[in-house]
Amino acid sequence: MGIDKNGNIVLKTDSLTKRFGGLVAVNNLSFEVHEGQICALIGPNGSGKTTVLNLITGIYPIDGGRIDFLGEQINGLPSHAICWRGIARTFQNIRILGSQTVFDNALLGKGYGNGGAGVFQIMFDTAKHRQERAAFAEEVDEVLKFVGLEDVRNELARNLPYGRQRILEIARALVTKPKLLLLDEPAAGLNSAEIYTLMELIKKINETGISVFVIEHRMELVGELADWVFVLNYGSKIAEGTFDEIRENPAVIEAYLGKGRD
Ligand code: ADP
Ligand code: MG
Repeated sequence: MGIDKNGNIVLKTDSLTKRFGGLVAVNNLSFEVHEGQICALIGPNGSGKTTVLNLITGIYPIDGGRIDFLGEQINGLPSHAICWRGIARTFQNIRILGSQTVFDNALLGKGYGNGGAGVFQIMFDTAKHRQERAAFAEEVDEVLKFVGLEDVRNELARNLPYGRQRILEIARALVTKPKLLLLDEPAAGLNSAEIYTLMELIKKINETGISVFVIEHRMELVGELADWVFVLNYGSKIAEGTFDEIRENPAVIEAYLGKGRD
């Protein structure tokens, strides 16, 4: 773990703003993620963290500012194009197909990310899908092995313990071969053994050169993983720094303890 602020900027937002009606969910937010970093985004519930991921991945249009990935503007592009450029994500509420196998769930990353048969074609098992499935099988199996799910490759996803379902979501994201991985509260609902496994996996992913941007509530996880931490409150960045700097910061302590919102 090291803070290489001289590394190339992977992701940069400049005065990013999002409104929902009268609510400013993300307010003039500027931050940078450098290559090879694990960055954490923290903040009380409702502070705008998930909205930031939804803006980066093109799920919502932005209302102001801009987002650059590897030096090119990405706001305005459709989600699949953003994924194709190298940004993959997981969701705060797990999104896997319980009645499909672990392998097929991971394979969905291919359909979505790399311009192959679309998710709907994959679901309806077309001829194109069958061809691509064979071609992609090796890559998917490699990822399943990397994340430690190869033993349950042919199990239905719903039969996996929750912690492994969350790892399956990460596997599906990795199948798209991202340069930047966005994780929205990956440890939510996990027990401490599962959290340990998850932490080790996130480090291992980062060691392969993938930059990581993680929204996380559990401070022990942020402290263990993050090179750099951004703190949001009411949509605005109130602090950034190393974990040790952040946790001494009076504004951060006030945001977490003062309002009793979290
Ligand atoms: P966090 O992930 O930090 O808990 P969110 O980004 O989910 O926060 O939400 C930030 C604020 O934006 C909240 O007040 C939430 O109710 C509001 N919000 C999020 N998504 C929508 C939406 N699609 N429509 C209206 N309001 C939303
Ligand atoms: Mg959220």
